[in-house]
Amino acid sequence: MKPNHPLHPAPADAAARRALAPVICYPVGGLPRPDLTALRAARPGWTLTDSVRVPPREARCFTVPAGHFFRITSIEGPQVGDLNLWSADLSERFYSGKTRALHGTHLSSGDRLWSSFPTLRPLATITDDSLDWYGFDEFGGSVHDVIGTRCDPYTHNLLSDGGQYHHCCHSNLTRALALARNMPLDQAEAHVHDVLNVFMCTGFTRDTGQYFMKASPVRPGDYLEFLADTDLLGALSACPGGDCGCEHSSDAAPCHPLLVEVFRPLAPPAGWQASRPNGYNRSHGKGGGAGG
Ligand SMILES: [Zn+2]
Repeated sequence: MKPNHPLHPAPADAAARRALAPVICYPVGGLPRPDLTALRAARPGWTLTDSVRVPPREARCFTVPAGHFFRITSIEGPQVGDLNLWSADLSERFYSGKTRALHGTHLSSGDRLWSSFPTLRPLATITDDSLDWYGFDEFGGSVHDVIGTRCDPYTHNLLSDGGQYHHCCHSNLTRALALARNMPLDQAEAHVHDVLNVFMCTGFTRDTGQYFMKASPVRPGDYLEFLADTDLLGALSACPGGDCGCEHSSDAAPCHPLLVEVFRPLAPPAGWQASRPNGYNRSHGKGGGAGG
């Protein structure tokens, strides 16, 4: 955090330096926007092919073929979900940081969930968000963030003077992946990554820039819906923080299950194609690779 009493005095032109207008780091005007009308037009008549109930303070894995939709729905009470996504062969994972750089701190319809380097391609596209009405509140908070990482037992251990808690989202996701892919816990843990915080309401405090959370506005029936842009393995944890209105990394908060449903459309959306790996040639300037 920035010091309340800086050691170094402000220069004479401090105000002028601060007054410079910000520039968007990654203008996304050049990125092809998904045709949400066409994607949503593929939903009528779809078939439910899988339904996974995620118990409170646990996680479950699910698979989604390319061109299928999946929905995460609040079913019994306000509840936050921590989502991991991988390509089905586990070679690619969701890249929360780059997704944030491209689409902003909080996601909604039309945003993509991008994969890690070197593929950097859409793993999934958000096609519907029943909380899109929320926008940003007076605190600068909003839902579905890519700014948090996931609650985890290591940070909890640091902040609780050695506490051992085993149902943080990080551990839940680790156990779920280990079970789904029949791999040892330590191997599964290495695949767990920064999440999309589904339904979580978060932001940064205006005075200190600290990450904050507040009770999620989600209610039973609310959902976030995606189209899989390649064959996916997903894992969703029902966070031990419940609606994340008070605390996490404990069994104190009321928690509820979440529902994941997978739908096969009658036909792929018009104009939709499975995503392709990034076009960078990977020479990194060595060996006379093309491009400048
Ligand atoms: Zn959590």
